Amino acid sequence: MFLEHFPDEFKNHGWIEVICGSMFSGKTEELIRRLKRAQFANQKILLVKPKVDDRYHKSNVVSHQGNSFDAICVENSKEILSIWRKEKVVAIDEAQFFDEEIVSVCNELSKKGVRIIIAGLDMDFKGVPFGPMPQLLSIAEYVTKVHAICVSCGNLAQFSHRTVAGNEQVLVGAVEEYKPLCRSCYNKIGH
Ligand code: ZN
Repeated sequence: MFLEHFPDEFKNHGWIEVICGSMFSGKTEELIRRLKRAQFANQKILLVKPKVDDRYHKSNVVSHQGNSFDAICVENSKEILSIWRKEKVVAIDEAQFFDEEIVSVCNELSKKGVRIIIAGLDMDFKGVPFGPMPQLLSIAEYVTKVHAICVSCGNLAQFSHRTVAGNEQVLVGAVEEYKPLCRSCYNKIGH
């Protein structure tokens, strides 16, 4: 389990954490766990998510388990800098939907001493790296890959297989149309 590496407060030292994985891997659950701990430590939190994702509730980040945290929806990554009010922790959910500039936004905030916690899908349903996630994984100090369980064989799953036809990368709010699969089961069905 990830444990925070709280640096010396006087050094004003920021850093970047990424939580990645497939659908149903518990990314948002892990993000919320870290945010609750930051809250217990009396740290101010800014939680953002991209506007494209409006499932469940417009201003909350809600895990599949039903835990929630207040979030602000932003149109693009630059908007994060304009709404930041010196919160010590900036959390970004569904980061795969952000534009490429999210990388410089995260670097910028970490220079100002912010701890950034990013959660996102590392691959789309085709098994292709998703949006700016590869870049975010590269610049992060700490990377946690969480896994779902393959619904076909019970092994660890890292692929989000889509059960309905269509080629578009984003199918928002249609969680019932995805199944977590391991590499071998994902390959078996013709990927
Ligand atoms: Zn499997």
